Amino acid sequence: MAGRVTRFAPSPTGPLHLGHAFSALTVWDRARGGAALLRIEDIDQSRCRPEWEAQIFDDLHWLGLNWPEPVMRQSTRANAYRGALDRLAAMGLTYPCRCTRADIRAAMSAPQEGAATGPDGLIYPGTCRGRSMSEAGPGDAIRLDMKRALTRAGARRFFETGEHEGWHELGPLDRSAGDVVLARRGFGTSYHLAVVVDDAAQGVTEVVRGADLFQATAIHVLLQSLLDLPQPAYHHHRLIRDPAGKRLAKRDDARALANYRAEGLSPADIRAMVGFTPSAP
Ligand code: GLU
Repeated sequence: MAGRVTRFAPSPTGPLHLGHAFSALTVWDRARGGAALLRIEDIDQSRCRPEWEAQIFDDLHWLGLNWPEPVMRQSTRANAYRGALDRLAAMGLTYPCRCTRADIRAAMSAPQEGAATGPDGLIYPGTCRGRSMSEAGPGDAIRLDMKRALTRAGARRFFETGEHEGWHELGPLDRSAGDVVLARRGFGTSYHLAVVVDDAAQGVTEVVRGADLFQATAIHVLLQSLLDLPQPAYHHHRLIRDPAGKRLAKRDDARALANYRAEGLSPADIRAMVGFTPSAP
């Protein structure tokens, strides 16, 4: 395991909770002998707050986790995302989309269309697919023409080191994910594009994250292949659930680390609560 580079990539839109703690502990554990990097995913500046970022640093340090400086912030990476987007556009794989969520829902409710969902929710029905990039307006999102992308990408599988260890096929992404958004309206990128560009820029060799992102991984591997970026290994870990079995979300402030800290719990208590056991050295 020597030399593995992993990363923890929280969005500063709320407090870290027990699920984040388990994720971070796993990220640092997998990097033992290598490097665990921190990346702040703050593309959506309207939802991100400096005080949440400060709290993230503080909570991670309290858990005993340290990282090399400087921390990467997605809000400073617009040029890198634009470069990747331009490259995919030059390959003829993108188109501008002006559909609103309501437009998409309306198109999906047409009787001949199945209401299939993928990693980003409803699978886009392709309404704007015929539009050319020269028509792109400032209010448009940019989508990937998935069918075409699949004919251009070399990668067909990725290696998972987590619970379902082994090679996994990308599968028919045109049907399972559809024409995913590469640049959200007004943002210059989307989660999928940013994460792929940044994992490569940070030299990440193993992406460690929750099992909820397993389906997004096939999209990321496809984008890496189109952009000639190295393909890391993937480690999807189990999710921490509340007593009712529901996955913890940012709004579960009651399970925020800060609250447990205020109640006097120790990092060892947190590790026990989430059932974290370090891997053998
Ligand atoms: N920023 C994402 C989150 O907070 C993590 C994305 C990833 O690990 O790829 O859920």
